[in-house]
Amino acid sequence: KATLGGKYDQLMEWVDEVKAMAVRTNADTPEDAKQALEFGAEGIGLVRTEHMFFKEDRISSVRRMILADSVEERMRALNEILPIQKNDFYQIYQVMGELPVTIRLLDPPLHEFMPVKEEDISRLAATMSFSLAALKERIEDLHEVNPMLGHRGVRLGITYPEISRMQARAIMEAALEFKADRNCEIQPEIMIPLISDVKELTYIKAEIEDEIKKVFTEKGETLSYHVGTMIEVPRAALTADKIAEEADFFSFGTNDLTQMGFGFSRDDSGKFISEYMDKGILENGPFDTIDQEGIGQLVEIAIEKGRRIKPNLKVGICGEHGGDPASIEFFQKLGFSYISCSPYRVPIARLAAAQAAIKYHVVKEPISDKLVTNFS
Ligand code: PEP
Ligand code: MG
Repeated sequence: KATLGGKYDQLMEWVDEVKAMAVRTNADTPEDAKQALEFGAEGIGLVRTEHMFFKEDRISSVRRMILADSVEERMRALNEILPIQKNDFYQIYQVMGELPVTIRLLDPPLHEFMPVKEEDISRLAATMSFSLAALKERIEDLHEVNPMLGHRGVRLGITYPEISRMQARAIMEAALEFKADRNCEIQPEIMIPLISDVKELTYIKAEIEDEIKKVFTEKGETLSYHVGTMIEVPRAALTADKIAEEADFFSFGTNDLTQMGFGFSRDDSGKFISEYMDKGILENGPFDTIDQEGIGQLVEIAIEKGRRIKPNLKVGICGEHGGDPASIEFFQKLGFSYISCSPYRVPIARLAAAQAAIKYHVVKEPISDKLVTNFS
């Protein structure tokens, strides 16, 4: 852990004694994970696997995986990606040891991965089994007017289950290897993005569980793991009781929940949101601080419905609000198990979690009046 010495260390020691919610981090690389650990993170709440593929030397395999027009062609691309993904996960496990790590299956808005430049399209065509003209047609077919509401998250997994299977295999093979190398216990958490109906979760769970069974048979070893879901579509929040039947945990994607709840684009609404704030229509930017009145209600309903089915359901947050003190206070009020934020926000999130625990009287240990005074 980072030590700044003296009063900072003393304060953070108190903070960890007092806070009730765990503080995890959003990290996609071993470097980010290391940084967050130094800041006191207690696990990873979100690995965005799509971020692992933006690098130039990797993006072409993802493009081939998505643009393939046959299962065989897609499997060729996936077989190239599998060892790379496995190594990515292994390296993250190496940093995190036995701490919890939640890996989210691919959630790429497709437009971020499609080649646009003529030279990229030609280069890609040379590695695929179809002509340049056919490739262009395929790109055109996959074009979406509104990709953030399009073929992303679990929808991609349902269309191309082999992608989810490859990722589940990479997660489990890396975990089994790590367990054997270190002789330790880890329980991978696999998270499904953009669920709006329990049937999506049932479908994709069956696919990945079948693949994991194959891995266990091949390796002659097993490992316990959890499959949970993002709650980031309003319909998922409203039907959370059904979803809880299938989910081992919920993690709120408050970025998308805010986008879809307000109908404000995450990418384009900056201009008018500042106008709304200037004119007093909005008190805070809803993508910075959770809107308790509307979006917060969706979160509250989802937790209430989810815990009616599973009273001990683990509930976390991995949207940007997980690093915002005012939002953190609200998440404590609703009974969250953990919050997850970017590495550099971990210390502030720990502090905010401790203050919220005191405010809502959920501190872990009885604490002295002196300590309460220090936090007030
Ligand atoms: C979210 O929607 O809040 C979330 C964490 O997912 P992403 O930001 O990757 O869409
Ligand atoms: Mg999201």
